Amino acid sequence: MTAIAVPTTVTPAHAADYIALDEAWSTHNYHPLPVVISHGEGAWVTDVDGRRYLDFLSGYSSLNFGHRHPALVAAAVEQLGRVTLTSRAFHHDQFGLFCRELAELTGTEMVLAMNSGAEAVESAIKVARKWAYQVKGVPEGTAEIVVAGANFHGRTTTIVSFSTDEVARADFGPFTPGFTVVAYGDEQALRDAITERTAAVLIEPIQGEAGIVVPPAGYLAAVRRICDENNVLMVADEIQSGLGRTGELLALDDAGVRADLYTLGKALGGGIMPVSAVVGSRSVLGLLKPGEHGSTFGGNPLACAIGRAVVKLLATGEFQERSRELGGYLHARLGELVGHGVSEVRGRGLWAGVEIAPGGPKGREASEALAARGVLCKETHDSTLRVAPPLVITREELDLGVEAIAAVVAR
Ligand SMILES: *Cc1c(COP(=O)(O)O)cnc(C)c1O
Repeated sequence: MTAIAVPTTVTPAHAADYIALDEAWSTHNYHPLPVVISHGEGAWVTDVDGRRYLDFLSGYSSLNFGHRHPALVAAAVEQLGRVTLTSRAFHHDQFGLFCRELAELTGTEMVLAMNSGAEAVESAIKVARKWAYQVKGVPEGTAEIVVAGANFHGRTTTIVSFSTDEVARADFGPFTPGFTVVAYGDEQALRDAITERTAAVLIEPIQGEAGIVVPPAGYLAAVRRICDENNVLMVADEIQSGLGRTGELLALDDAGVRADLYTLGKALGGGIMPVSAVVGSRSVLGLLKPGEHGSTFGGNPLACAIGRAVVKLLATGEFQERSRELGGYLHARLGELVGHGVSEVRGRGLWAGVEIAPGGPKGREASEALAARGVLCKETHDSTLRVAPPLVITREELDLGVEAIAAVVAR
């Protein structure tokens, strides 16, 4: 082991000091923009040097209700004054209410409460396999799950096993078998990949990390049909696309399609803490019996109290409506940039992948230039800006963000 000189005694004062601390003491599994946030409110954050930035990323859709939404903070504070953790060894008074309210909101029958998004996806994989063995009659140990190319479902060993992103996989094998990857949006490829051993199709209704990729019209309905024809579960990963982001409660709603299981996360925790869940039909989730699956923190009282407050905000439909209306405006304004440094704009609602035209700045460069102009968003891949402002943003604030993007990509 070589000793590395690290600044152990520095009292951080400015952004550079905090960044040096991160560099010295944290693993380097991220490459953040050089902005050190110390406060947030609504669609705005403030850095340690007192500079204000418009948040055009929302924690990858975790902050759909903005920073410190008063109703969410109030629910958290109230619960902090009562009880925060019981473990599932006992019942608590927030759990059943959270499950019922989330199931009613999403039109589902049962809730499996977890913490991170990856855990929700892992849980959906486990229960889909169990369904394959116990209900469909697939021979033990042979169940297959079909997934899409360029998917993003999280970072566990099993999940990266079916990633097509080499950076996410390299040196992390051996990988979990039982997954078949097909091109996203290709109905025939999906049909061809299904066998008698297929338990489920796991799919993002709009691919987030891939660059806000919307599948061809009719594709999601075709996925549902193919699943029905072959006695296969449809599992929709709505961790990023769900809970108002696209202008509907769930992105699948726009296609008029229902999944057997949905994974939810990110905004379910109100930007306060990780809260995730698998929601879906009793005939699948009801297969789990005591001892077969669990999580120490899953469904804890604080998470449930915050989750209930999130459900209450979404139940009014107000945020979905904002996302739809302001999303239309955002896409119209971003659309004006096509031919002026932007080659394509994808997405729906307050969610957009802005493709920077060849010859323009790289995504990273553009993100840095935007931060310098007081707008925070983040590239995905080389040349895509991911725009996902909190749903509480105003039209005027959207204008600020779009004008900054226009200036940064202009040549
Ligand atoms: C973020 C994300 C996940 C993983 O969630 P974590 O909380 O980071 O584990 C899974 N699926 C999708 C679609 C996501 O966007």
